[in-house]
Amino acid sequence: MLLYSLLKESVRLMEKKNILILGAGISGLSAAYYLSKNDPSCSITILEKQDRAGGWIKSSDLNGFFFEMGPRIFKGSKSQDLLQLIHELGLEKEIVLASGAKDRHILWNGNLEKLPQNFLSFLLSPLTRNLVFPLLTEWRKPPISISDESIRDFILRRFGKDVLERLIDPLTQGIYAADPSELSIRSCFGALKNYEDKYGSVTSGVWNEVIKKKKDPNVLLPKSSLFTLKGGVETLVMALKKQSSCAIEYGQEVEFLAHKNGKFTVKTQDKEWTADSVFIALPVSQVPNVLRHLLPDIAKELSQVPSASITSVLVGFKKDVLPLKGFGYLVPTGENLPILGAVFDSKTFTEKEETRITIMLKGCGYSPEEIETQVSLSLKNHLKILSNPDLLHVHVSENAVPKFLVGHKDKMAFVDRDLKRAYPGLHLLGNYLQGVSVSDCIKRSKNQVEERSF
Ligand SMILES: Cc1cc2nc3c(=O)[nH]c(=O)nc-3n(C[C@H](O)[C@H](O)[C@H](O)COP(=O)(O)OP(=O)(O)OC[C@H]3O[C@@H](n4cnc5c(N)ncnc54)[C@H](O)[C@@H]3O)c2cc1C
Repeated sequence: MLLYSLLKESVRLMEKKNILILGAGISGLSAAYYLSKNDPSCSITILEKQDRAGGWIKSSDLNGFFFEMGPRIFKGSKSQDLLQLIHELGLEKEIVLASGAKDRHILWNGNLEKLPQNFLSFLLSPLTRNLVFPLLTEWRKPPISISDESIRDFILRRFGKDVLERLIDPLTQGIYAADPSELSIRSCFGALKNYEDKYGSVTSGVWNEVIKKKKDPNVLLPKSSLFTLKGGVETLVMALKKQSSCAIEYGQEVEFLAHKNGKFTVKTQDKEWTADSVFIALPVSQVPNVLRHLLPDIAKELSQVPSASITSVLVGFKKDVLPLKGFGYLVPTGENLPILGAVFDSKTFTEKEETRITIMLKGCGYSPEEIETQVSLSLKNHLKILSNPDLLHVHVSENAVPKFLVGHKDKMAFVDRDLKRAYPGLHLLGNYLQGVSVSDCIKRSKNQVEERSF
């Protein structure tokens, strides 16, 4: 009997496992890569509703101007998993460092103010001179024991109104396209909350963990560097497709997931797919629908995670008409504009004598007239560019960035726990779980592949 059970178990283990990945964005593609690397005997299929892979990652040539429609730039210190993947894929030589990204600007009272880079300019700048006192005295404020609160409440409590309005608000809008009063400090700027919890103040945390240790965790790049890849971020997508042994089935929009006789079934418009294990790498706006029959409670929890939309206006000039250097500028809420900020693409990665700027607007649904007004405000009033652009292209990213509301981290931990208990072969991937950046998505996929079970 024992021998029979052992034999049965060996046969079961020897069977080729079928794995389905739903969605061919960076989360799905990196999961396919790690799965094919860790377990070459698996049969892996990705179901993707569009006719291309990459999800938000899209590098395009628009009438001779190169633009990224989605992610464009990565920070060395925040991209360890991305850099590790770049190394494994043999793409190190394709890394392009941002040569001119040092200067950053903030729109303040209608004018662009450069973010100071030394103590003297910090004292003199109209943007930052009021921030010296709150930044230097934060360590005296007593910590409070609270598991989470909004970014706004945390910054107001520790640093006051000026630091919130002049620094943290525009930064939050720039990364998350959302208001700091809506978002969680724990999920969005977790390091700051951890410093308060561990050292009693953010300043002491920065002193002990950043300045004193001077740690530089990256082997490939210095931590302050910003980078992209030759040919754009889509180079990463192409390498992943090439180096993963998986099939990508395009035009397959997943409708729902079920579980019958120990196997998962995935229903797309005209087909049913069977698998031993499923990795859901879809945007959070899609997941509740897919899980509605199998896990209604988890579907309900995830339906309460909203997402922000972004309208990007891509502007090109055949000549170098931009008087400013640097990465771009951010706009605080107090300026009462729909503009989140603008990225000086041609100054960040300089190749040609041309100007490429991406102006980001909060939300979507703008009329052509509204877009024209905002573009004119940005180009003429903020950037002092008076010539007419040679290219103007509008790209809408609907429900693109998940909003991490207060308590998000705990809720996602419960979702992960409940999912693991109910169906150990089912995994959630994507930018709403552990962070929105491409590197965060890769990290999540890598960890879930390592933790997988059938
Ligand atoms: C404008 C913009 C700029 C950004 N800039 C940066 C940046 O500079 N740096 C950075 O690190 N990050 C940036 N990000 C964030 C980062 O790009 C995303 O978080 C990341 O690409 C998300 O990848 P993903 O694979 O999880 O999801 P997605 O890219 O959304 O991929 C999901 C895939 O699932 C498919 N799909 C959806 N529904 C279904 C269905 N029902 N059935 C089958 N397939 C389906 C989609 O077509 C898509 O291919 C930016 C995002 C945006 C939108």
